[in-house]
Parts: sequence; C-alpha cells; structure tokens
Amino acid sequence: MLQTQSVGGVDMAYFLLCKRKLWLYKKGIGMEEESDRVLQGAVLHDSAYPRLEKREILIDDAFKIDALDGEYVREVKLSSKMIESDRLQMLFYLYQLSLRGINKKGLISYTNEKRTVEILLTEKGKQEIKKAIAEVYQIIDTPSPPAVIKVPYCKSCAYFGFCYAREADEDDT
Ligand code: SF4
Repeated sequence: MLQTQSVGGVDMAYFLLCKRKLWLYKKGIGMEEESDRVLQGAVLHDSAYPRLEKREILIDDAFKIDALDGEYVREVKLSSKMIESDRLQMLFYLYQLSLRGINKKGLISYTNEKRTVEILLTEKGKQEIKKAIAEVYQIIDTPSPPAVIKVPYCKSCAYFGFCYAREADEDDT
C-alpha cells in the first residue's frame, strides 16, 4: 500500500472519535482551528507545565509531545470526556518513542477534574497501537470520506456545519 502521509497522535485521537473526522482532517479540510475546544487546548498548553523546561518537543519532524518530565511523557487535557482517545494518543507517543529506543510512561492531567492518569506501554498496548496505525492508513487512503456517524459529540465537532449542511438545507425547505 502506498503511504503518502505520516500519521500522528492527533490522528489516533480522531480515529477513535470519528473516522470521518480523521479523513476530513487528513485531507486538509481544516475547520479544527475554529473549534472552541482546540482554542481552549492551545491556551491550556501555553499555560501548562510552568516548571518544566522541555515543552512542545518535536520528535524527528514527525510528531510533537507536550512535555517530558523524567520518566514520563506528559499531556494536559481539559476534561476526561474523551479519555479513550487521549489514551490511544498517548500510546502512540510512547510507542513511537520506544521505536527510537526511548522508553517512557505517560501521564495525562485532566485540569477540570484535577486528576492524572498514568498510561503504560504494555505488549498489548503495542499491538493495539500498531493495529490502530494500520487502520488509520487504510481510512486516509480511501477516496471518499466515511459516513456521518450521528453521535452526541457531533455537536461540539468543528465539522458539524460541514457534516450536517444537507440536513439544515432540508429543514429550510
Ligand atoms: S460532525 Fe460528527 S460525523 Fe462529522 S466529523 Fe464530526 S463527529 Fe464525525
């Protein structure tokens, strides 16, 4: 299979959230910059980890991690509403680092809930992330986007207007 694009941690999160969102994002249909959640996330990242020097680290021009703190890769999120996506994203970072001979654990801090979750890259986790990466490539190699999934998350998705435009038109008629 011809793999023309690299994939990153955000792709893993989108993969679990919505395959269509992943496809649209990878095709450069970029509405994500306008999303409130992303703006909040950007502000959060700017203010997080005041005591850490190693922040926003670009690895091999391929993916970026929030911060390194001793034996941990750290990520900060507002809430744990998307905890499974956050977990897969962290597994991706841990796996990619392990491929480069760097073995770390993950810590995700949920600021609204003031709690932190530890993620370990187990053998099972490695298989899981390898499978997810393969599936992400399959999705982005398809010529047309997966169907709209109609889940509660759609309402807070940056692509909501795009995905539901036809329904809005039908409502107007
Ligand atoms: S609006 Fe819903 S279907 Fe469309 S990309 Fe977002 S989550 Fe997926």
